[in-house]
Amino acid sequence: METSDFSTIISKASLIGKEMYQLIEELYPICRSITGNGVRETHRIIGKHVPIKTHEIPTGTNVFDWTVPKEWNIQDAYVLDPKGNKIIDFKKSNLHVVNYSIPINTKISLKELKKHLHSLPEQPTVIPYLTTYYNEDWGFCISNDQLLKLEDGEYTAVINSSLEHGNLTYSEYYLKGEKEDEILITCYTCHPSLCNDNLSGVSLVTLLAEYLSKIPLEYSYRFLFIPETIGAITWLCVNEKNISRIKCGLVVTCVGDSGDLTYKKSRQGNTEIDIIATNVLRNSGDDYALLDFFPSGSDERQFCSPGFNLAVGSLMRTMYGNFKEYHTSADNLQFMNMKSLEDSLIKYLEILFVLENNKTYLTLNPKCEPQLGKRGLYQTLGGQKINDTTKQAIQWVLNLSDGNNSLLDISNKSNLEFHLIKDAADILIKNNLLKNIIN
Ligand code: ZN
Repeated sequence: METSDFSTIISKASLIGKEMYQLIEELYPICRSITGNGVRETHRIIGKHVPIKTHEIPTGTNVFDWTVPKEWNIQDAYVLDPKGNKIIDFKKSNLHVVNYSIPINTKISLKELKKHLHSLPEQPTVIPYLTTYYNEDWGFCISNDQLLKLEDGEYTAVINSSLEHGNLTYSEYYLKGEKEDEILITCYTCHPSLCNDNLSGVSLVTLLAEYLSKIPLEYSYRFLFIPETIGAITWLCVNEKNISRIKCGLVVTCVGDSGDLTYKKSRQGNTEIDIIATNVLRNSGDDYALLDFFPSGSDERQFCSPGFNLAVGSLMRTMYGNFKEYHTSADNLQFMNMKSLEDSLIKYLEILFVLENNKTYLTLNPKCEPQLGKRGLYQTLGGQKINDTTKQAIQWVLNLSDGNNSLLDISNKSNLEFHLIKDAADILIKNNLLKNIIN
């Protein structure tokens, strides 16, 4: 594993950030849900970037304590006012329909209609996003400003949807590395026209997978595109016998807003991926937040349920629920920040770089310091002067490489960036002062 492989991708990050934004733009208009053709269309587009394998799990399949639901599809939906004007139109925003609404075609009084209208009084101009997956119902979402303007009379409500026996669709992309051990990178593809939560995650996972597929890798990677909750439960149930291959993982969501990064630790809290994410954020020089695991949130709830207890954390920017645009029409393309997308991708790459290179070495010269000067390691290296930081890194690696400290441990103890420690180890290996003891 050469440093240059990851750094080549990182050097293209601003280009990849633009590609991430373009993918979000392309996926934005599609009406997705936990099942249905919007998901299939989304996965078809993801498939243009990476050769995903799509699985269809039939309605009624039992997955642990859950059952795969009926498949939902929608063609159109609208409300006509008493004068026949189309005042709510699914074709203008798919958030207007409560996701998973049953079909309806009815004339209805304003009073009755209001029982099926949802708005956000505290944010009167935006359309909220609501779902009714496990309770057969119907409804429309509108801005509170619009709700207050509705006049009495007979309205027409039409939802041209279907809720029938079908399938739950999920896809995976498996990228083979040197080792069988797998790194799980997951996102959910069940939200309709919403960007930060979660098209930002979908696009980051897709582009990350595409670029990682071009470089040699130590670990194998499994990228999941699943509906949130039911998809993670289904995937864990269908793949239960292979779960022991998973070394660790990350749930990717909310990576495109302008806020600082947030890392939510795995349930175990002190696994290698938790320590790496903390190390990378601390050394970034940017503000960040670290959160201990809590049992609400995204699919880490399933991966970190006690029966699996996987080392799965989640790296986000502003956490779901903590930005006012969350689950509203304001979580749109304008809410996306290209620099944030780029920065989020870089942080994911840096975390994976550390994971790939976190080896444990043994000094071959444990009795007192080796004489660096005679090896050209004290003042110059190939004509290039070794600077103080590199010298410090070399000293740390030599001293702590007693077989008990990984490069990550040395980075943490020395407060020097992992890259510096890894470069120092590479120099020492070339000079026969260090050997790899664990694979
Ligand atoms: Zn959400």
